[in-house]
Amino acid sequence: MAFENLTQRLQGVFKNFRGKKKITENDVLEITKEIRVALLEADVALPVVKKFIRNIRARAIGVEVSEALQPAQQVIKIVDEELTAILGGGEVALGKSPKIPTIIMMAGLQGAGKTTFAGKLAKRLKDTENARPLMIAADVYRPAAIEQLKTVGKQVDVPVYDEGTDVNPVEIVRHGLALASEKRHDYVLIDTAGRLEIDEKLMDELIQIKAVAEPTEILLVVDAMTGQVAADVAKKFNETLDISGVIITKLDGDTRGGAALSIREITGKPIKFVGTGEKLTDLEVFYPDRMSSRILG
Ligand code: GDP
Repeated sequence: MAFENLTQRLQGVFKNFRGKKKITENDVLEITKEIRVALLEADVALPVVKKFIRNIRARAIGVEVSEALQPAQQVIKIVDEELTAILGGGEVALGKSPKIPTIIMMAGLQGAGKTTFAGKLAKRLKDTENARPLMIAADVYRPAAIEQLKTVGKQVDVPVYDEGTDVNPVEIVRHGLALASEKRHDYVLIDTAGRLEIDEKLMDELIQIKAVAEPTEILLVVDAMTGQVAADVAKKFNETLDISGVIITKLDGDTRGGAALSIREITGKPIKFVGTGEKLTDLEVFYPDRMSSRILG
């Protein structure tokens, strides 16, 4: 499907604004109609779009056109500021426990990029803090998942604790944490199981792992390419697990990032990192203003 993006749409409207001195209520209606369609097409959830439009309306009506700025630029500035605000304003650092280890639990649907992110984060912690992380393989439903985490662990030179697929993942986590204390690892990254869709058994297991691990961070990993689904997933995981942050992967793909807007607004939880490729170096801190620029094009 070839949709016009938000920038193209706005440019279309703004063409009619050339030479205007003041933005009227009618102008704003026209602008917000285009923003609404563009955001919906960019996979932003409807309630989020509605709230966003209300803010824009309130701020844009009656804007005086200054000498320096064309009305189009002024509206773009307002849209940009509001998008940035909804996306969280500024970046949010990873939490750290006052005593080691800091325990970080990863959750998300299968294929979202959890295991890859675990490797990327382990590498980042090593590179930036000289940390000594331990990763725990708690996805016992897919033997390939354990092997994949071990492969990633080898690539970043971080040990992986696993007990194969025959042990209850809650026990694996318990044992892995005991080992981490014994060996004085400063970070523990727990890779949990994902399913193709949310199911109660998976959620129960994650609740149990959370109870045992008492993690400083519960990071939900979502695939940006899945759009509205990512927002629904974030809502459900947050309701069940009270997550502490979100990782959005596959932003190197052809997506406008509408999911980021919905997720932040629906969960109220900060997006902390974004995945920008398959390589273990393809991890970036999430900056709301950059994301806003991306959505605006
Ligand atoms: P998991 O099932 O949640 O553990 O997901 P994986 O970590 O196995 O990732 C699923 C697929 O997505 C793999 O092929 C990864 O290489 C790929 N992947 C993960 N993160 C990114 C990313 O940021 N960009 C791209 N392009 N691919 C990614």
